[in-house]
Amino acid sequence: MSSNWQRRWQPLLEQWVIVAATSADRPWSGAIESGLDVPLPRHDPDCYLCPGVTRAAGATNPDYRGAYAFDNDFPTLAPHAPADSNTNDELHSFAPAQGRCRVLCWSENHNDTLASLSADKVIDAIKLCKEEYISLSADKGIAQVLIFENKGVEIGVSNLHPHGQIYASSFVTDTALRLRDSQAKYAKRHNGQCLLQDMLSSEHVKSHLLVEQNQYWSIIVPYAARFSYETWIVPNRKISSLAETSDAEMAELALCYQRQVRLYDNLFQRSAPNITLLHNAPCDDNADNEHWCFHVAFHPPLRDSQKLKYLGGFESGTNNIVNPMMPEKAADTMRKLAGK
Ligand SMILES: [Zn+2]
Repeated sequence: MSSNWQRRWQPLLEQWVIVAATSADRPWSGAIESGLDVPLPRHDPDCYLCPGVTRAAGATNPDYRGAYAFDNDFPTLAPHAPADSNTNDELHSFAPAQGRCRVLCWSENHNDTLASLSADKVIDAIKLCKEEYISLSADKGIAQVLIFENKGVEIGVSNLHPHGQIYASSFVTDTALRLRDSQAKYAKRHNGQCLLQDMLSSEHVKSHLLVEQNQYWSIIVPYAARFSYETWIVPNRKISSLAETSDAEMAELALCYQRQVRLYDNLFQRSAPNITLLHNAPCDDNADNEHWCFHVAFHPPLRDSQKLKYLGGFESGTNNIVNPMMPEKAADTMRKLAGK
């Protein structure tokens, strides 16, 4: 198989990705990333996510243990965002940025990461994600509940306390519109089949792109990965959201999530930066939501232990991402690291 100059179709986003493995061999004189090697304290009185700390907006965190959620004091979306504007015409369209932003602490300990948690604690963290999804998606004013984690100083995370976030928006975000549309169109072309389930059962994925498969979940590198070590955790049966997971599926998802975070730490030889997205189906009343398959997407920004992926002119100007790593090679590396 030629390892260069391929365009690969990403069917969920309906866009081309360029796989150019030679670009990884270019001489590098850019920034060398080493991450944060200063040990963190177990409790930081200046951290607004630590137990007992009074936050910027005046509330004091309880002396919590385990996973804990609260409203973000600096929300991007607000329940009562202003609904009018002086300008609202074809060239200046306006809509309120309505919704709720929540913070999900994974642990009371400032120096934990998902990788360092006990199995019970990581399961509790994902259980909290499920509970938050169920309660927020029941709100008629909410159209989408995006749960995600930004981790690492390399990608600009200002607070190192282990935490995720929720943006529960009154509108469906641009990427979710694409994911919903592509899955609905696929189902209509293929007698109701699920795009992600068909992807899982493809011979190429099973032979070359699988990192791990257990009773409930599969971890794969997408054929048109946009990041060097991008992976998705896909359920072995079609479910649309965390709300549909059984207790056993949810617990195994939490352990898969943790194994993948630990795998990245081993791969990059540090507490690795990452962006992780829990792609639940939108919760508005659009009929196409039924075709959505829940999955978790990891977008690691590192190309190797010292190089961050930056979007250059071609990518930021075209939205066609260049991946310098063959997805099959990335899957092979991670499969070996996982001992599978
Ligand atoms: Zn903290």
